[in-house]
Parts: sequence; structure tokens; C-alpha cells
Amino acid sequence: MGEPRVLVVGTGFAGYHCLRTLERVLPAGAAELMAVNPTDYMLYVPLLPEVAGGSLDPRRVAVPLRPKLPRTRLVQAHVTGLDLAARTCTAVDVEGREQVLEWDRLVLTAGSVTRLMSIPGVAEHAFGFKSVAEAVFLRDHVLRQVELAEQATDPAERAARATFVVVGAGYTGTELVAQGQQLTRSALRGRNGLSESEVKWVLVDLAPRVLPGLDERLSGPAARVLRARGADVRLETSVEEVTAHCAKLTDGSEIPTRTVVWCVGVRPDPLVESVALATVKGRVVVDPTLAVPTHPHVFAAGDVAAVPDVFNDGEPTPMTAQHAQRQGKLAGRNVAASLGHGTFGTYRHRDLGFVVDLAGSQAVANPLHVPLTGLPAKAVARGYHLLAMPGNRLRVAVDWLTDLLVRRQVVQFGLVPEAGVRLGDAEKVGAANRG
Ligand SMILES: Cc1cc2nc3c(=O)[nH]c(=O)nc-3n(C[C@H](O)[C@H](O)[C@H](O)COP(=O)(O)OP(=O)(O)OC[C@H]3O[C@@H](n4cnc5c(N)ncnc54)[C@H](O)[C@@H]3O)c2cc1C
Repeated sequence: MGEPRVLVVGTGFAGYHCLRTLERVLPAGAAELMAVNPTDYMLYVPLLPEVAGGSLDPRRVAVPLRPKLPRTRLVQAHVTGLDLAARTCTAVDVEGREQVLEWDRLVLTAGSVTRLMSIPGVAEHAFGFKSVAEAVFLRDHVLRQVELAEQATDPAERAARATFVVVGAGYTGTELVAQGQQLTRSALRGRNGLSESEVKWVLVDLAPRVLPGLDERLSGPAARVLRARGADVRLETSVEEVTAHCAKLTDGSEIPTRTVVWCVGVRPDPLVESVALATVKGRVVVDPTLAVPTHPHVFAAGDVAAVPDVFNDGEPTPMTAQHAQRQGKLAGRNVAASLGHGTFGTYRHRDLGFVVDLAGSQAVANPLHVPLTGLPAKAVARGYHLLAMPGNRLRVAVDWLTDLLVRRQVVQFGLVPEAGVRLGDAEKVGAANRG
């Protein structure tokens, strides 16, 4: 009998922190730690809008896994199947080679994917925004549209190329519009072929306020910042259809554009659907120790798991990094306890508030539920990210400082092909394209 093997699927917030905890609490030789993830880094997703806006280099949000997890065997692959009875997992690597991995404890932390709705044209024409590839593509695409708008001789084409539509005014869409406005402003500096008033950012949401899932006191200030910078914020409005050249809205308007970004929310990773486990809203049902009640050797945490929130009548905790990180740590502790090391704990975490960076000197935040705006919120937002990031902190801080002191570098490389970032393509390509 060898060491029991703990297999963690996904090394995002929950998986990464689970493994860090296991490496800390398990004595040497107590278990073999293995993780399967399509990339060799942990993606710090909350700063992706800054990558799209060009204030952060893409590598800053990719925290290298190997130096951080020296005891873990990392398998760079994509899990395609799980056999809970046989306790095996099938993984396919980047070259399409399949391997079957055995496990004694399984931790599911595969996160979530962009939620597609059956709105005509969205899959074919809208861009997703959840991976480094999508953020880098979007930055290049926006800059290219600015160039092409300036060169266009047809006024209609010029206006369409200079219009950017973001659907979903949650923290992702709101931050993306804010960062996008900064990016286009930087791109226009020193030019005379296209003016700032010709560039339009449109934020659309069905909800009556921006940041609908967050503290109401953050919504008004955030909307005011975006509108003061010229954004067209359309609330209680949805998208009826997206075509290659237009977004049709439910208020009857048609917005000529070459750019629709889909930020309407996420759903658990499709891997969950392939496993016969009970789910709530697509998330794996777990008990307060994060174990699956019918399979005590299987644990789940983060976006993929329906973890009962003791502070909200047992409703599943929201899909946030704040919860995923803490659930990952608890999963690590409880997996260790299930192997005879330490004691079990249950999940209890009261929301500490949220930060929304609105680019420039603007942000909104409610640390410990105290609403802040402007520079104090900005300081809290940046301080929070620097503390929450598991690595690359100095590099991120230097990028931010550089962005304050010198003009943003506005260039496109066009390295990410458009095929793969359209939402429908991303669905087909699956997790191999994420991360
Ligand atoms: C643009 C954006 C901004 C956000 N900003 C914030 C914020 O400011 N604050 C906040 O609290 N939350 C924020 N969130 C939400 C937060 O990022 C998620 O709730 C959090 O990442 C969930 O952590 P997780 O570990 O469950 O999943 P993830 O962090 O997504 O990690 C899942 C991992 O599993 C891997 N994986 C997926 N499928 C497989 C498979 N089949 N096989 C192997 N590996 C697989 C993925 O590649 C990934 O590495 C944001 C989300 C987005 C998209």
C-alpha cells in the first residue's frame, strides 16, 4: 500500500488554496498530492479587466504554480471524465494524450464558465471575458477598432467601429467598461483623426442598477463615474439579438458595433454535468465540511460547489473569489482530517465586502460594509488585491506605479486569434482554452 493520493481538479482560487493548506498540514509521506489544471499558473481573475485595459501586463495575473506548490505533482491537462466508483479520473493533455489517474480523495475545484443564453447571435458574435486569452484579445481588438474607425471613410462604419457594447453590469462588466474607457482615451491621446466624443462605451443590464449583486450604496457612485466619463449606461434593458455589425436591444434600439462583450454571469464548469452527483443550480451539493454527502471521499469547493451559507439560511454561497479561497483552505484541512491529520471544520464566512476598481483614481468598495468611493476606495481595492494575490505582488505594484508615472503603452500584437474567443468557439474548445 503506497501513500493515499489526493487529486485536486483545477488550481484556481479554491484548488490552489486547498493544495497550499494540504502541503502545510500534512506531514511528509502522509499523502501524494496531485493537481490537474490546463495551465501552469493560478489565474488571479479579479485583475483581468486591468489586463484588458492595458494597465497590467498579462503575466502579472498568472501566478506560477510550481514554485508555490513544491510538494504537488502538477499534471497540465484537462479532466474529461471522472469515475467515482472506480476512483479514477481521465485527463487529456495539450497534445491530446489521455491518461487515467487514480485517487483516494478527490477535490473538485474546476470553477465556472461564461453563462451563454439562447439569445440569437450571442454565441457567434459576442466575446467572452474570463481568460487571459480573452482579455489580451479584447485589448488588441479595441485598439484595432480605434485604428480602423479612424481610417474608415464611411461615417456609419466609423461610428460602429468606435462603439463598444458590454452586456452585464456586474463587477466584471462594470470594471471592463471603466478600464476600456481608459484604454481608448490613452489610444486617442495625440491623434487628430478620431475624437474622444466619437468613441462610445455602452453598458447594458436587465437590472435596475449597476453592480446589481452588490451593496446598493456602491451602485449609484459607480454609475456616476462611468456616465461622467461618457459611458451610455442602459439599465432595465437586455439584448434581443447580436449580429456581426449590430446589437439589438429590448428597448427597440439597434446599436451598430463590431464589439459585444458578454459578461452576464457564469455557470459551473461543464465537468459537473458529466458526473452523477446531486446539484443545486448546477453546483455540486456538499455538506458544511465541503464533502459530497453520498461520496465522503469527494470534496468540492468554489464556484463549482453549492456550499451552504450559514449566514444566509443555508443558500449556496455566492460565486466569488472571497468564498472560493476560504472554501479551498477548508477543503484542504478536511481532506487532511479525513486522512487522520487534524480535525474537521465547517464552512462559516461572513462576507467582508467587495471592491470594484473603476480605473484612474476611481473605485467603489465596502470593506466591512462601510461604503467608500474615490481615492479611499481605490486604496482599499489595490491593497486588497495585493494582499489577496498569492504571488506577483511586487510586479503588479510596479506596473501600477509605472502606469501612474508614464503614458500607457498602446500597441497591438494580435497574437490571440479571433477563433476561440467568440463565445460559441470558447464553448467548443472548452477548458483547454481557459486559464
Ligand atoms: C473577470 C472576472 C472578474 C472577477 N472579479 C472578482 C472580484 O473582484 N472579486 C471576487 O471575489 N470574485 C471575482 N470574480 C469571481 C472569481 O474569479 C471566482 O468566483 C473565482 O475565481 C472562483 O474560484 P474557483 O477556484 O472556484 O474557480 P477558478 O478560479 O475559475 O479556477 C478553476 C480552475 O479549474 C480549471 N479547470 C476548469 N475545468 C477543468 C477541467 N475540466 N480539468 C482541469 N482543470 C479545470 C480552470 O482552468 C481553473 O484553473 C471575477 C470573475 C471574473 C470572470
